[in-house]
Amino acid sequence: MQLLKERIVKDGTVKPGNVLKVDSFLNHQMDIDLINEIGKEFRRRFPSDKITKILTIEASGIGIACIAAQYFHVPVVFAKKAQSINIDGEVYHTKVESFTHKKVYDVILSKKFLDADDHVLVIDDFLANGCALMGLLDIIKEAGATIEGAGIVVEKGFQQGGQIIRQNGIHLESLAIIETMTDTSLTFRE
Ligand code: 5GP
Repeated sequence: MQLLKERIVKDGTVKPGNVLKVDSFLNHQMDIDLINEIGKEFRRRFPSDKITKILTIEASGIGIACIAAQYFHVPVVFAKKAQSINIDGEVYHTKVESFTHKKVYDVILSKKFLDADDHVLVIDDFLANGCALMGLLDIIKEAGATIEGAGIVVEKGFQQGGQIIRQNGIHLESLAIIETMTDTSLTFRE
């Protein structure tokens, strides 16, 4: 998505540890006009009318998923990160290692909001090692729901997540795939 790539080049900054900061337009301050175009682009890439739900994970995925959902006319449900939990049978549960915080989170989703009849599109801001996305896929599997695909705003193509997800046969669409990233230069996969 050309508009997004241009914005990453203009306003993205690279931090130590292979972290791309896009917090002036995507995940702290949010450029709603840009995210609206992102939402339209996800709809263009996932035209299926089977999708019943958009699933994301807190926090940064939520705003993007909500704007995208206006083009799908389905609810957004987000997995919650909890420091520690008592699993009481009312929630789906998995563990996710955070790439940016280097911490393992318990992640939960109420069973009320996802079941075997659902066809799910996952949306998230970044794909790096794939832990967040694999965690969401675990939850979908636990619910017996059907995965329709995963839409990612920025995939860091030099990390393993994209490859793992594609090898699992998931329809993955990333709107910008970064091939290389240094303090002074960024290249995208065509
Ligand atoms: P993964 O689980 O694929 O390793 O990492 C995905 C999650 O980590 C995303 O939900 C995102 O919040 C965060 N993340 C991973 N890499 C980056 C990055 O380079 N920049 C930012 N801002 N977040 C990242």
